[in-house]
Amino acid sequence: MSHNVPLLIDGEFLPSSTTQFIDVTNPANNEVIAQAPCATDAEMERAIASAAEAFKSWKEVPVSERARLMMRYQALLKEHHDELAEILSQETGKTFADAKGDVWRGIEVVEQAINMPALMMGETVENVARSIDTSSFIQPLGVCVGITPFNFPAMIPLWMFPMAIAAGNTFILKPSEQDPMTPIRLAELFIEAGAPKGVLNVVHGGKDQVDILLNHKETKAVSFVGSVPVGQYIYKTATGNMKRAQCFAGAKNHTVIMPDANKAQVLNNLVGASVGAAGQRCMAISVAVFVGDSKEWISELKPLFEEVSPGLWNDEKAAYGPLISPKAKARVLELIQQGKEQGANCLVDGSDFTLPGYESGNWVGPTLFTDVTKEMAIYQEEIFGPVLCCMCVDTLEEALELVNSNPYGNGTSIFTGSGAAARKYQHEVEVGQVGINVPIPVPLPFFSFTGWKNSFYGDLHAYGKQAARFYTETKTVTSRWFEDDIPTGPNMTINLR
Ligand code: NAD
Repeated sequence: MSHNVPLLIDGEFLPSSTTQFIDVTNPANNEVIAQAPCATDAEMERAIASAAEAFKSWKEVPVSERARLMMRYQALLKEHHDELAEILSQETGKTFADAKGDVWRGIEVVEQAINMPALMMGETVENVARSIDTSSFIQPLGVCVGITPFNFPAMIPLWMFPMAIAAGNTFILKPSEQDPMTPIRLAELFIEAGAPKGVLNVVHGGKDQVDILLNHKETKAVSFVGSVPVGQYIYKTATGNMKRAQCFAGAKNHTVIMPDANKAQVLNNLVGASVGAAGQRCMAISVAVFVGDSKEWISELKPLFEEVSPGLWNDEKAAYGPLISPKAKARVLELIQQGKEQGANCLVDGSDFTLPGYESGNWVGPTLFTDVTKEMAIYQEEIFGPVLCCMCVDTLEEALELVNSNPYGNGTSIFTGSGAAARKYQHEVEVGQVGINVPIPVPLPFFSFTGWKNSFYGDLHAYGKQAARFYTETKTVTSRWFEDDIPTGPNMTINLR
């Protein structure tokens, strides 16, 4: 039975009056499980008007009260952790364990949002000149917007609206049309936690709905996570309209393997970090760079890849699930084919994998390429599937040159037993998130998520102190209070003494 996913406008969950819907499918068999409405122009306008109206009173709510809303929300999210993960699994195909991780990483950001009173503290200097003090205050911006991708339907919306709202803003979320059920459940729990009407609104749809948000005079800041072309478009449009924007985009993450690394650790980590979540993680390892003699280990990856078996979300033995859509699967298969045609050696080929009984699902088996070169499409393109490309170089310097010449800069890691090699790599690599013997170095939310180059357009990153700055403006106040009626004439100079 499919159902229409409601909109959240002005505190009410209501069906859209649109005639345009996008099917939400179970990726394991492509059956339609829900429909995402494309919100009408009037519904978009109402959502924006509601957020703008709510801002007038929400910004006056003390930050400690706003933090208390996040405390209640955190408790509710924990209480509903399994239920959220089950919804998430059904619309993404993620295994239940992985879906729980998706929800959990979002809960951790809500915990950081509880810290907003400390994050909104300004600075004060007494006597900047005689009897004159200066203080800075941190104030919210107004209506903020979030546009999120399909691959983390709990974590990524939770990167955005809790921090923005705790800072005193109101928010409009436009989640991915491919898995809108998890975000709308997150919104229901937020209302249950006590969020006043209009503080969070949720609209559904695609480009048309996003364009309204990007072009509306009431929206002040835009957070986006998704692919490179859409990220570039949103960054240019939002900043062209004089709005603040942070756009997290695609990735191609390399792991460098030094010959002095712990071999068993390297091999096990490479399998999980590359094909886990069907490779649909923006921090997945998609390129393994073997330095010197470590190349001897590549053949040992083959049996490990062959052992990995995808399956249904509720199969505890399943390593990962199907890809999100037939389109995503077709793209991955096309790139695997190009890899073979361009001369890479396909040691394990997952192109023909299918799950018995679920042949119509978007399955791709684990795929391992060796002899990959920089010119090949499988190296140049973000595959976003369960595919690992192995490359070989002679020295750490060559590995650094390879990684640094890649246009993406989301994450990277090095496996080594040498502190000196690790130190050199962390210092010289031009990538924003570095792991040392840690394959997928996603920072916890008291830091920020700091992708670089084509993986991020903007200045201030997601969560942590940077998010508190992204969602606020600083006001400095300089004040003097006169004790006596000291006769003074007009002051014609810039000097305040
Ligand atoms: P996507 O770019 O197709 O969609 C992302 C969002 O943009 C969705 O809400 C979608 O409705 C909207 N959208 C799509 N086309 C649009 C258009 N023309 N104009 C305006 N809005 C549009 O991305 P996706 O396929 O959902 O997600 C996968 C991508 O996200 C991958 O490239 C992955 O690397 C990236 N990603 C990056 C990070 C990061 O932190 N850097 C994190 C997660 C995902």
